[in-house]
Amino acid sequence: MSSAPQDWELQAAGDPRTHPQLLSDIATRRPDLRGIIAANPSAFAELRSWIAAVDSGVQAQQPVSQWPAAPAVAGPPVRARRSGAGWWFAGCGCLTLVVLVVLGVVFAGGALISEGGGASSGGISSTSSDEEYIGEQMAIVATERQRFHELAAQLEGNPVAPLVTEFAKSQRLDKRIAEGPSNRFQAESLANDATEMRENLEQRFAEAEARRGNASGTVSEALVEEAGNGFIDIAWDAATACSVSGREGRTTAGCTSDDPLAVHILPENELFGDWGVRITTLHELAHLYQYADLEERMDQDQSAAMALMDQGFFEGSGEKLADCYALTYTGGWTLESEQGSSGYGYVCNESERQAIREWAALINAPMP
Ligand SMILES: [Zn+2]
Repeated sequence: MSSAPQDWELQAAGDPRTHPQLLSDIATRRPDLRGIIAANPSAFAELRSWIAAVDSGVQAQQPVSQWPAAPAVAGPPVRARRSGAGWWFAGCGCLTLVVLVVLGVVFAGGALISEGGGASSGGISSTSSDEEYIGEQMAIVATERQRFHELAAQLEGNPVAPLVTEFAKSQRLDKRIAEGPSNRFQAESLANDATEMRENLEQRFAEAEARRGNASGTVSEALVEEAGNGFIDIAWDAATACSVSGREGRTTAGCTSDDPLAVHILPENELFGDWGVRITTLHELAHLYQYADLEERMDQDQSAAMALMDQGFFEGSGEKLADCYALTYTGGWTLESEQGSSGYGYVCNESERQAIREWAALINAPMP
């Protein structure tokens, strides 16, 4: 879940309000951001040409001093964010600033130098409407991804973070962004997807905020909140939400559903007391951890839990793994109580418990 919330250069690179000279400075320092800068509508034609040239391996002198000042003067005011005005002035140079101010006076209200008019070199410096549109869309992408990664960073250490952020989908989107759009439709699709992912994530944060506080005052909700910090939902509706057990004499005490961030259990008074509540809730939480584990390792086609089962742990069963998580968490050595039994009939051994502890540490799942 890494991101760089402090990476102001990334933010500035995609922001159409960023001063053209600053874009030029960033392009010099950050080869990784040149694609985003080239798509920024505030990037002047010579800068785009330069980026195209250096990206294709041509030795080219960066047109630092050639950029036309007038459009910048006519455009939206440069905004210095976060660290105050100093940071872009510092990268700008006093002479440039003086020239900018003078030009600003000369050209204010008058004819402006058109962006493409002074282009001195070839390359992809056309200012067609397609290019501008792509630039606008990619600016949206940059802003949306910045916000998304800032939020995602707040989930550091949360075992269901990969589910909250839709980790695999987010990775695919970042890959598409890195490849860059080849036409306006792809750019629009990237902007739409980035916007949707940010909206979904904000929605989950709002839901988590509203959910926190253990309104039911139950042991099960306390366990769920401890695990997910509000990002996991709990409902005591196993009787209707879960499928009927196919095993004779058994009742389904809990399940997970289409929503990978929700657990369903029976009302606590039907779960054989405090012991049954804990075992059942922890078992279902372990399923969510398995989903999160897989979501984060989708590109490896195997989760860490699946690797353990492949090695023969938990008799190769995700259900017995979930029981083992509950047993290890509670320190219990039985799935039976005076009132009844819980789980899948296999009490895991010490080496399996050690594997569970290591797995829990890997995926940030709580383990006392
Ligand atoms: Zn289960």
